[in-house]
Amino acid sequence: MQTTKLSAKSILPLTCSRSGSCCFGKAVMLNPWELLCFSKEKKITTREFRDLYTDFGGIRLIFNGKPDKKGQNACSQYVDGFGCSVHLGRPLACRLYPLGRQIQFNKAEYIYEGKTFPCLTDCAEVLDLPKLSVGKYLEGQKAGAFENAQDEYLVVMQNIADIAFELLLDTGLATSGDTKTLAIWRTMGNELPEILTERIGAVWIDYLMLPEITDEVKNPKIFIQKHNNFLLLKAQEAFGSIQTTDELHEACVLIMGVALHLSRGLGADTKGIAEHWIETAKSHGALE
Ligand code: SF4
Repeated sequence: MQTTKLSAKSILPLTCSRSGSCCFGKAVMLNPWELLCFSKEKKITTREFRDLYTDFGGIRLIFNGKPDKKGQNACSQYVDGFGCSVHLGRPLACRLYPLGRQIQFNKAEYIYEGKTFPCLTDCAEVLDLPKLSVGKYLEGQKAGAFENAQDEYLVVMQNIADIAFELLLDTGLATSGDTKTLAIWRTMGNELPEILTERIGAVWIDYLMLPEITDEVKNPKIFIQKHNNFLLLKAQEAFGSIQTTDELHEACVLIMGVALHLSRGLGADTKGIAEHWIETAKSHGALE
């Protein structure tokens, strides 16, 4: 589908009429800090929120509410006649909607898919409301902290993948003639999220989505730094003393699976990222 790019100064009918279909039939992806924000707003534990309202170990919000006229289910957090029940804790995807955000050469770009601005087809009455620039709209949505959290987690994703690179390239696994590891990286890049969740297993899914750093909801930067350090520590504990090539292969697959699962929670192109990491590994001597 065609993508339309916008600048922060682009003026659009971004004021919400609150009568549209933005809380119906969507795929809202979550990072671990957003899961914490939701649980605080809902006044339940992050584990409870994860288990009740999300799929795939916490990376996607469940949409199982009353359907709209098009038959699309409402978000699990949507209350008929009221709207979002966790408005202050809503994630970046909801703050940006109907815009998307992509990082190109370390710069954020705002986009929407298709030729027509979505609100004009779903909520024609927004035409009568005041228009806003993209920048002003995002300011009003208090999207800044959530955008920063997304960017910080992209760094964590690469840090986790770097552990897989070390296990493959710095231990003798790649030079042992191993060809299985990159093949499974590719499989995981194409794998359905429920299968990848299963492959990773409950322990590492919990390390990724429920790090139990509960005191930093207002400071995503510190939360994510602590989470990054926690994941590196757990990798050190789990993989620090392994010796055989079979064990190295297993570890290398597991930790790359964690990085790819996080990429999906960040709304990234998981398949494209897996291919990029495979090419990087091959350029450093790994075989496929
Ligand atoms: S979290 Fe709230 S704003 Fe986002 S889709 Fe669900 S009900 Fe709508």
